[in-house]
Amino acid sequence: MRTPSRWHRIRDVVLSTDRRRRTLVAMALLALVLMTSSAGVMLMVATASSAVNAVAVQWWAAISVGGMVVMTAFIRSGETARLSDPSLTVPQMVWTITSGAVAYVLAGDARGVVPAVLAMILFFGTFGLTVAEVIGIGVYALLAFGCAVAATTRFNASPFGYLDTAYALMVLIVLGGSIALNLRIQRIRARLQEQREALAQALAVNRDLATRDELTGLPNRRAMQDLMELERRRSLRSGRPLLLAQLDIDHFKRVNDSHGHAMGDRALQAFAGAVRASVRDTDVLARWGGEEFVLLLSDTRINDARDLLERVRAAVAAMEIPHTSGTLSLTVSAGLAQHVPHDTLELTLERADLALYTAKSLGRNRVAVAPSPRRGSRSHSAQT
Ligand code: GH3
Ligand code: MG
Ligand code: MG
Repeated sequence: MRTPSRWHRIRDVVLSTDRRRRTLVAMALLALVLMTSSAGVMLMVATASSAVNAVAVQWWAAISVGGMVVMTAFIRSGETARLSDPSLTVPQMVWTITSGAVAYVLAGDARGVVPAVLAMILFFGTFGLTVAEVIGIGVYALLAFGCAVAATTRFNASPFGYLDTAYALMVLIVLGGSIALNLRIQRIRARLQEQREALAQALAVNRDLATRDELTGLPNRRAMQDLMELERRRSLRSGRPLLLAQLDIDHFKRVNDSHGHAMGDRALQAFAGAVRASVRDTDVLARWGGEEFVLLLSDTRINDARDLLERVRAAVAAMEIPHTSGTLSLTVSAGLAQHVPHDTLELTLERADLALYTAKSLGRNRVAVAPSPRRGSRSHSAQT
Protein backbone atom coordinates (compact mmCIF):
# COMPACT_ATOMS: atom_id res chain seq x y z
CA MET A 1 0.00 0.00 0.00
CA ARG A 2 1.22 3.50 -0.79
CA THR A 3 1.72 5.82 2.16
CA PRO A 4 -0.49 8.90 1.81
CA SER A 5 1.33 12.14 1.05
CA ARG A 6 1.25 15.03 3.52
CA TRP A 7 -1.30 16.83 1.29
CA HIS A 8 -3.59 13.76 1.34
CA ARG A 9 -3.36 13.54 5.11
CA ILE A 10 -4.29 17.22 5.53
CA ARG A 11 -7.10 16.82 3.00
CA ASP A 12 -8.47 13.78 4.88
CA VAL A 13 -8.43 15.63 8.21
CA VAL A 14 -10.06 18.81 6.86
CA LEU A 15 -12.46 17.40 4.28
CA SER A 16 -12.96 13.81 5.57
CA THR A 17 -11.81 10.49 4.13
CA ASP A 18 -15.18 9.81 2.55
CA ARG A 19 -15.00 10.88 -1.10
CA ARG A 20 -18.59 12.06 -1.41
CA ARG A 21 -18.51 13.98 1.85
CA ARG A 22 -15.19 15.53 0.81
CA THR A 23 -16.85 17.17 -2.21
CA LEU A 24 -19.69 18.51 -0.04
CA VAL A 25 -17.31 19.91 2.59
CA ALA A 26 -15.11 21.52 -0.09
CA MET A 27 -18.15 23.28 -1.60
CA ALA A 28 -19.34 24.42 1.85
CA LEU A 29 -15.85 25.77 2.63
CA LEU A 30 -15.83 27.69 -0.65
CA ALA A 31 -19.23 29.22 0.24
CA LEU A 32 -17.83 30.08 3.68
CA VAL A 33 -14.78 31.80 2.16
CA LEU A 34 -17.05 33.81 -0.16
CA MET A 35 -19.31 34.82 2.73
CA THR A 36 -16.29 35.82 4.84
CA SER A 37 -14.84 37.92 2.00
CA SER A 38 -18.18 39.67 1.49
CA ALA A 39 -18.34 40.33 5.23
CA GLY A 40 -14.81 41.77 4.99
CA VAL A 41 -15.92 44.20 2.27
CA MET A 42 -18.91 45.25 4.41
CA LEU A 43 -16.67 45.82 7.45
CA MET A 44 -14.37 47.92 5.28
CA VAL A 45 -17.35 50.02 4.16
CA ALA A 46 -18.50 50.39 7.79
CA THR A 47 -15.05 51.59 8.86
CA ALA A 48 -14.73 54.09 6.01
CA SER A 49 -18.24 55.57 6.04
CA SER A 50 -19.63 57.47 8.96
CA ALA A 51 -23.14 57.03 7.54
CA VAL A 52 -22.99 53.29 8.16
CA ASN A 53 -23.80 51.79 11.56
CA ALA A 54 -20.53 49.97 12.31
CA VAL A 55 -21.85 48.00 15.29
CA ALA A 56 -24.80 46.72 13.27
CA VAL A 57 -22.48 45.66 10.46
CA GLN A 58 -20.18 43.86 12.93
CA TRP A 59 -23.16 41.94 14.33
CA TRP A 60 -24.35 41.21 10.84
CA ALA A 61 -20.91 39.90 9.82
CA ALA A 62 -20.60 37.71 12.90
CA ILE A 63 -24.07 36.17 12.47
CA SER A 64 -23.73 35.70 8.70
CA VAL A 65 -20.32 34.01 8.89
CA GLY A 66 -21.29 32.11 12.07
CA GLY A 67 -24.32 30.56 10.35
CA MET A 68 -22.14 29.35 7.49
CA VAL A 69 -19.58 27.94 9.94
CA VAL A 70 -22.32 25.96 11.73
CA MET A 71 -23.65 24.55 8.46
CA THR A 72 -20.14 23.62 7.24
CA ALA A 73 -19.42 21.85 10.55
CA PHE A 74 -22.73 20.00 10.26
CA ILE A 75 -21.81 18.79 6.76
CA ARG A 76 -18.29 17.82 7.88
CA SER A 77 -19.73 15.77 10.79
CA GLY A 78 -21.50 13.54 8.26
CA GLU A 79 -24.84 14.11 9.98
CA THR A 80 -26.35 15.59 6.80
CA ALA A 81 -25.67 12.40 4.80
CA ARG A 82 -29.07 11.05 5.88
CA LEU A 83 -30.91 14.15 4.61
CA SER A 84 -32.41 14.50 1.15
CA ASP A 85 -30.20 17.59 0.68
CA PRO A 86 -26.86 16.50 2.23
CA SER A 87 -25.07 19.58 0.85
CA LEU A 88 -27.57 21.87 2.69
CA THR A 89 -27.76 23.91 -0.52
CA VAL A 90 -31.27 25.24 0.17
CA PRO A 91 -30.62 26.35 3.79
CA GLN A 92 -27.26 27.83 2.76
CA MET A 93 -28.87 29.84 -0.03
CA VAL A 94 -31.75 31.02 2.14
CA TRP A 95 -29.18 32.08 4.76
CA THR A 96 -26.96 33.96 2.31
CA ILE A 97 -29.91 35.63 0.55
CA THR A 98 -31.27 36.81 3.90
CA SER A 99 -27.82 38.01 4.88
CA GLY A 100 -27.50 39.80 1.50
CA ALA A 101 -30.88 41.51 1.94
CA VAL A 102 -29.88 42.76 5.41
CA ALA A 103 -26.53 43.90 4.02
CA TYR A 104 -28.43 45.86 1.35
CA VAL A 105 -30.13 47.84 4.12
CA LEU A 106 -27.01 48.23 6.29
CA ALA A 107 -24.56 49.18 3.51
CA GLY A 108 -26.08 52.59 2.98
CA ASP A 109 -24.64 54.29 -0.12
CA ALA A 110 -22.44 51.23 -0.77
CA ARG A 111 -25.43 48.89 -1.32
CA GLY A 112 -24.58 48.82 -5.03
CA VAL A 113 -22.10 46.00 -4.27
CA VAL A 114 -24.86 43.66 -3.05
CA PRO A 115 -26.45 42.68 -6.42
CA ALA A 116 -23.10 41.30 -7.58
CA VAL A 117 -22.85 39.16 -4.44
CA LEU A 118 -26.50 38.06 -4.93
CA ALA A 119 -25.71 36.88 -8.47
CA MET A 120 -22.84 34.78 -7.15
CA ILE A 121 -25.04 33.19 -4.46
CA LEU A 122 -27.69 32.26 -7.00
CA PHE A 123 -25.20 30.66 -9.36
CA PHE A 124 -23.72 28.76 -6.47
CA GLY A 125 -26.89 26.74 -6.02
CA THR A 126 -27.19 25.87 -9.70
CA PHE A 127 -25.84 22.35 -9.42
CA GLY A 128 -27.61 21.22 -6.28
CA LEU A 129 -31.16 22.41 -6.90
CA THR A 130 -34.24 20.99 -8.57
CA VAL A 131 -36.35 23.17 -10.86
CA ALA A 132 -38.95 23.71 -8.09
CA GLU A 133 -36.20 24.74 -5.66
CA VAL A 134 -34.71 27.19 -8.19
CA ILE A 135 -38.13 28.84 -8.54
CA GLY A 136 -38.73 28.76 -4.76
CA ILE A 137 -35.35 30.33 -4.04
CA GLY A 138 -35.98 32.95 -6.74
CA VAL A 139 -39.32 33.92 -5.23
CA TYR A 140 -37.79 34.07 -1.74
CA ALA A 141 -34.93 36.29 -2.99
CA LEU A 142 -37.47 38.58 -4.68
CA LEU A 143 -39.44 38.93 -1.41
CA ALA A 144 -36.31 39.40 0.73
CA PHE A 145 -34.87 42.09 -1.52
CA GLY A 146 -38.31 43.69 -1.98
CA CYS A 147 -38.39 44.13 1.80
CA ALA A 148 -34.78 45.37 1.75
CA VAL A 149 -35.53 48.02 -0.89
CA ALA A 150 -38.62 49.10 1.05
CA ALA A 151 -36.60 49.23 4.27
CA THR A 152 -33.85 51.43 2.79
CA THR A 153 -36.40 54.16 2.09
CA ARG A 154 -37.47 54.09 5.76
CA PHE A 155 -33.97 53.83 7.25
CA ASN A 156 -32.28 56.39 5.03
CA ALA A 157 -32.79 60.01 5.69
CA SER A 158 -32.57 60.87 1.99
CA PRO A 159 -35.63 60.25 -0.22
CA PHE A 160 -35.81 57.35 -2.68
CA GLY A 161 -33.49 58.62 -5.42
CA TYR A 162 -32.40 57.55 -8.89
CA LEU A 163 -29.61 55.39 -7.38
CA ASP A 164 -32.13 53.46 -5.27
CA THR A 165 -34.19 52.84 -8.40
CA ALA A 166 -31.07 51.70 -10.26
CA TYR A 167 -30.01 49.32 -7.45
CA ALA A 168 -33.50 47.87 -7.09
CA LEU A 169 -33.65 47.35 -10.85
CA MET A 170 -30.18 45.77 -10.73
CA VAL A 171 -31.43 43.29 -8.11
CA LEU A 172 -34.40 42.44 -10.34
CA ILE A 173 -32.19 41.98 -13.41
CA VAL A 174 -29.76 39.73 -11.50
CA LEU A 175 -32.65 37.66 -10.10
CA GLY A 176 -34.43 37.24 -13.45
CA GLY A 177 -31.22 36.48 -15.31
CA SER A 178 -29.93 33.94 -12.84
CA ILE A 179 -33.27 32.14 -12.55
CA ALA A 180 -33.45 31.85 -16.35
CA LEU A 181 -29.87 30.59 -16.52
CA ASN A 182 -30.44 28.20 -13.64
CA LEU A 183 -33.45 26.66 -15.33
CA ARG A 184 -31.49 26.31 -18.57
CA ILE A 185 -28.70 24.50 -16.74
CA GLN A 186 -31.25 22.21 -15.06
CA ARG A 187 -32.60 21.26 -18.50
CA ILE A 188 -29.09 20.52 -19.78
CA ARG A 189 -28.44 18.41 -16.68
CA ALA A 190 -31.66 16.44 -17.21
CA ARG A 191 -30.73 15.83 -20.84
CA LEU A 192 -27.23 14.69 -19.88
CA GLN A 193 -28.73 12.31 -17.35
CA GLU A 194 -31.08 10.87 -20.00
CA GLN A 195 -28.18 10.45 -22.41
CA ARG A 196 -26.11 8.74 -19.74
CA GLU A 197 -28.91 6.27 -19.03
CA ALA A 198 -29.43 5.58 -22.75
CA LEU A 199 -25.69 5.01 -23.14
CA ALA A 200 -25.57 2.59 -20.21
CA GLN A 201 -28.50 0.69 -21.67
CA ALA A 202 -26.91 0.52 -25.12
CA LEU A 203 -23.69 -0.68 -23.52
CA ALA A 204 -25.52 -3.48 -21.70
CA VAL A 205 -27.23 -4.56 -24.94
CA ASN A 206 -23.89 -4.43 -26.74
CA ARG A 207 -22.20 -6.51 -24.07
CA ASP A 208 -24.98 -9.08 -24.37
CA LEU A 209 -24.71 -9.11 -28.17
CA ALA A 210 -20.96 -9.57 -27.93
CA THR A 211 -21.27 -12.74 -25.85
CA ARG A 212 -24.62 -14.21 -26.91
CA ASP A 213 -25.79 -15.78 -30.13
CA GLU A 214 -28.88 -13.85 -31.19
CA LEU A 215 -30.74 -16.74 -32.84
CA THR A 216 -30.46 -19.38 -30.12
CA GLY A 217 -29.67 -17.27 -27.05
CA LEU A 218 -26.67 -19.52 -26.36
CA PRO A 219 -23.19 -18.19 -25.55
CA ASN A 220 -21.36 -17.47 -28.80
CA ARG A 221 -17.96 -18.76 -29.85
CA ARG A 222 -16.09 -15.87 -28.28
CA ALA A 223 -17.81 -16.21 -24.91
CA MET A 224 -17.29 -19.97 -25.03
CA GLN A 225 -13.57 -19.56 -25.61
CA ASP A 226 -13.35 -17.52 -22.41
CA LEU A 227 -15.47 -20.02 -20.49
CA MET A 228 -13.40 -22.97 -21.73
CA GLU A 229 -10.19 -21.23 -20.72
CA LEU A 230 -11.62 -20.63 -17.25
CA GLU A 231 -12.66 -24.27 -16.93
CA ARG A 232 -9.28 -25.45 -18.24
CA ARG A 233 -7.50 -23.60 -15.45
CA ARG A 234 -10.00 -24.81 -12.87
CA SER A 235 -9.56 -28.41 -13.97
CA LEU A 236 -5.77 -28.06 -13.96
CA ARG A 237 -5.91 -26.89 -10.35
CA SER A 238 -8.55 -29.36 -9.11
CA GLY A 239 -7.45 -32.36 -11.20
CA ARG A 240 -11.10 -32.95 -12.16
CA PRO A 241 -11.80 -34.02 -15.74
CA LEU A 242 -12.82 -31.54 -18.42
CA LEU A 243 -14.60 -32.79 -21.53
CA LEU A 244 -15.45 -31.08 -24.77
CA ALA A 245 -17.91 -32.29 -27.36
CA GLN A 246 -18.44 -31.03 -30.89
CA LEU A 247 -22.01 -31.42 -32.12
CA ASP A 248 -23.07 -31.03 -35.74
CA ILE A 249 -26.61 -31.41 -37.07
CA ASP A 250 -26.84 -34.06 -39.78
CA HIS A 251 -27.73 -33.03 -43.32
CA PHE A 252 -28.82 -29.61 -42.18
CA LYS A 253 -28.38 -28.20 -45.64
CA ARG A 254 -31.36 -30.34 -46.71
CA VAL A 255 -33.55 -28.64 -44.07
CA ASN A 256 -32.80 -25.27 -45.58
CA ASP A 257 -33.15 -26.59 -49.12
CA SER A 258 -36.52 -28.23 -48.60
CA HIS A 259 -38.16 -25.98 -46.00
CA GLY A 260 -36.43 -22.63 -46.42
CA HIS A 261 -33.93 -20.70 -44.34
CA ALA A 262 -36.53 -19.41 -41.86
CA MET A 263 -37.57 -22.96 -41.01
CA GLY A 264 -33.84 -23.82 -40.71
CA ASP A 265 -33.51 -21.02 -38.15
CA ARG A 266 -36.47 -22.34 -36.17
CA ALA A 267 -34.98 -25.85 -36.28
CA LEU A 268 -31.70 -24.46 -34.87
CA GLN A 269 -33.62 -22.86 -32.01
CA ALA A 270 -35.51 -26.09 -31.31
CA PHE A 271 -32.25 -28.03 -31.40
CA ALA A 272 -30.58 -25.67 -28.91
CA GLY A 273 -33.60 -25.95 -26.59
CA ALA A 274 -33.64 -29.76 -26.74
CA VAL A 275 -29.92 -30.08 -25.98
CA ARG A 276 -30.08 -27.55 -23.12
CA ALA A 277 -32.96 -29.51 -21.63
CA SER A 278 -30.99 -32.77 -21.68
CA VAL A 279 -27.79 -31.52 -20.00
CA ARG A 280 -27.07 -30.27 -16.49
CA ASP A 281 -27.24 -26.57 -15.61
CA THR A 282 -23.49 -26.55 -15.07
CA ASP A 283 -22.78 -27.88 -18.57
CA VAL A 284 -22.36 -25.15 -21.15
CA LEU A 285 -23.70 -25.39 -24.66
CA ALA A 286 -22.46 -22.77 -27.12
CA ARG A 287 -23.14 -22.06 -30.75
CA TRP A 288 -19.77 -22.50 -32.40
CA GLY A 289 -20.97 -21.39 -35.84
CA GLY A 290 -23.70 -22.37 -38.35
CA GLU A 291 -25.20 -25.68 -37.22
CA GLU A 292 -22.17 -26.63 -35.14
CA PHE A 293 -22.23 -26.50 -31.36
CA VAL A 294 -19.71 -27.12 -28.58
CA LEU A 295 -20.69 -28.64 -25.25
CA LEU A 296 -18.46 -28.20 -22.22
CA LEU A 297 -18.79 -30.81 -19.47
CA SER A 298 -16.83 -30.17 -16.33
CA ASP A 299 -16.26 -32.62 -13.52
CA THR A 300 -17.69 -35.52 -15.56
CA ARG A 301 -16.12 -38.91 -16.24
CA ILE A 302 -15.76 -39.91 -19.87
CA ASN A 303 -18.23 -42.83 -19.66
CA ASP A 304 -20.86 -40.63 -18.01
CA ALA A 305 -20.26 -37.99 -20.67
CA ARG A 306 -20.74 -40.57 -23.40
CA ASP A 307 -24.07 -41.63 -21.81
CA LEU A 308 -25.12 -38.02 -21.52
CA LEU A 309 -24.34 -37.38 -25.20
CA GLU A 310 -26.25 -40.51 -26.09
CA ARG A 311 -29.26 -39.05 -24.23
CA VAL A 312 -28.81 -35.77 -26.09
CA ARG A 313 -28.66 -37.62 -29.39
CA ALA A 314 -31.85 -39.55 -28.59
CA ALA A 315 -33.64 -36.37 -27.43
CA VAL A 316 -32.77 -34.58 -30.68
CA ALA A 317 -33.89 -37.58 -32.76
CA ALA A 318 -37.21 -37.64 -30.86
CA MET A 319 -37.95 -33.96 -31.58
CA GLU A 320 -40.87 -33.17 -33.82
CA ILE A 321 -40.61 -29.63 -35.11
CA PRO A 322 -43.90 -28.49 -36.63
CA HIS A 323 -43.90 -26.80 -40.02
CA THR A 324 -46.53 -25.89 -42.60
CA SER A 325 -47.08 -29.44 -43.92
CA GLY A 326 -46.28 -31.75 -41.04
CA THR A 327 -43.31 -32.10 -38.71
CA LEU A 328 -39.58 -32.04 -39.19
CA SER A 329 -37.06 -34.33 -37.51
CA LEU A 330 -33.34 -33.82 -37.00
CA THR A 331 -30.44 -36.01 -36.02
CA VAL A 332 -27.11 -34.96 -34.60
CA SER A 333 -23.61 -36.42 -34.61
CA ALA A 334 -21.21 -35.77 -31.75
CA GLY A 335 -17.49 -36.16 -31.10
CA LEU A 336 -16.31 -36.24 -27.50
CA ALA A 337 -12.78 -35.65 -26.22
CA GLN A 338 -11.32 -35.50 -22.74
CA HIS A 339 -8.98 -32.59 -22.21
CA VAL A 340 -5.47 -33.65 -21.27
CA PRO A 341 -3.84 -31.38 -18.66
CA HIS A 342 -1.19 -29.14 -20.26
CA ASP A 343 -2.57 -29.77 -23.77
CA THR A 344 -4.09 -26.75 -25.48
CA LEU A 345 -7.86 -26.42 -25.81
CA GLU A 346 -7.39 -26.15 -29.57
CA LEU A 347 -5.86 -29.63 -29.58
CA THR A 348 -8.75 -31.05 -27.55
CA LEU A 349 -11.28 -29.41 -29.88
CA GLU A 350 -9.37 -30.84 -32.84
CA ARG A 351 -9.61 -34.32 -31.30
CA ALA A 352 -13.35 -33.84 -30.67
CA ASP A 353 -13.74 -32.69 -34.28
CA LEU A 354 -11.89 -35.76 -35.52
CA ALA A 355 -14.23 -37.97 -33.46
CA LEU A 356 -17.19 -36.06 -34.95
CA TYR A 357 -15.84 -36.76 -38.42
CA THR A 358 -15.70 -40.45 -37.50
CA ALA A 359 -19.34 -40.35 -36.27
CA LYS A 360 -20.36 -38.74 -39.57
CA SER A 361 -18.47 -41.23 -41.70
CA LEU A 362 -19.97 -44.16 -39.77
CA GLY A 363 -23.46 -43.08 -40.84
CA ARG A 364 -24.31 -40.02 -38.63
CA ASN A 365 -26.83 -39.87 -35.72
CA ARG A 366 -24.19 -41.25 -33.35
CA VAL A 367 -21.62 -40.35 -30.71
CA ALA A 368 -17.90 -41.05 -31.12
CA VAL A 369 -15.23 -40.70 -28.46
CA ALA A 370 -11.71 -39.56 -29.24
CA PRO A 371 -9.09 -41.97 -27.90
CA SER A 372 -6.70 -40.67 -25.25
CA PRO A 373 -3.80 -39.17 -27.10
CA ARG A 374 -0.57 -41.14 -27.15
CA ARG A 375 2.36 -38.99 -26.16
CA GLY A 376 4.12 -37.53 -29.16
CA SER A 377 1.28 -38.45 -31.51
CA ARG A 378 -1.10 -35.87 -32.96
CA SER A 379 -3.47 -37.92 -35.07
CA HIS A 380 -5.80 -40.42 -33.50
CA SER A 381 -8.65 -42.43 -34.86
CA ALA A 382 -11.94 -42.24 -32.98
CA GLN A 383 -13.93 -45.08 -31.49
CA THR A 384 -17.73 -45.17 -31.44
P1 GH3 B 1 -23.48 -32.98 -42.46
O1 GH3 B 1 -24.40 -34.05 -42.03
O2 GH3 B 1 -22.30 -33.49 -43.14
O3 GH3 B 1 -23.12 -32.05 -41.35
O4 GH3 B 1 -24.29 -32.13 -43.54
P2 GH3 B 1 -24.78 -30.67 -43.44
O5 GH3 B 1 -25.71 -30.41 -44.56
O6 GH3 B 1 -25.32 -30.39 -42.10
O7 GH3 B 1 -23.41 -29.92 -43.52
P3 GH3 B 1 -22.89 -28.57 -44.07
O8 GH3 B 1 -21.88 -28.08 -43.13
O9 GH3 B 1 -22.46 -28.77 -45.50
O10 GH3 B 1 -24.13 -27.60 -44.08
C1 GH3 B 1 -24.46 -26.82 -43.02
C2 GH3 B 1 -25.61 -25.95 -43.43
O11 GH3 B 1 -26.06 -25.20 -42.33
C3 GH3 B 1 -25.23 -24.98 -44.51
C4 GH3 B 1 -25.84 -23.67 -44.06
O12 GH3 B 1 -26.69 -23.13 -45.04
C5 GH3 B 1 -26.65 -24.03 -42.85
N1 GH3 B 1 -26.61 -22.99 -41.87
C6 GH3 B 1 -25.54 -22.52 -41.23
N2 GH3 B 1 -25.91 -21.51 -40.37
C7 GH3 B 1 -27.24 -21.36 -40.50
C8 GH3 B 1 -28.21 -20.50 -39.92
O13 GH3 B 1 -27.91 -19.64 -39.06
N3 GH3 B 1 -29.49 -20.64 -40.28
C9 GH3 B 1 -29.86 -21.56 -41.20
N4 GH3 B 1 -31.15 -21.65 -41.53
N5 GH3 B 1 -28.98 -22.38 -41.79
C10 GH3 B 1 -27.69 -22.29 -41.45
MG1 MG C 1 -21.38 -28.43 -40.34
MG1 MG D 1 -24.10 -30.59 -40.39
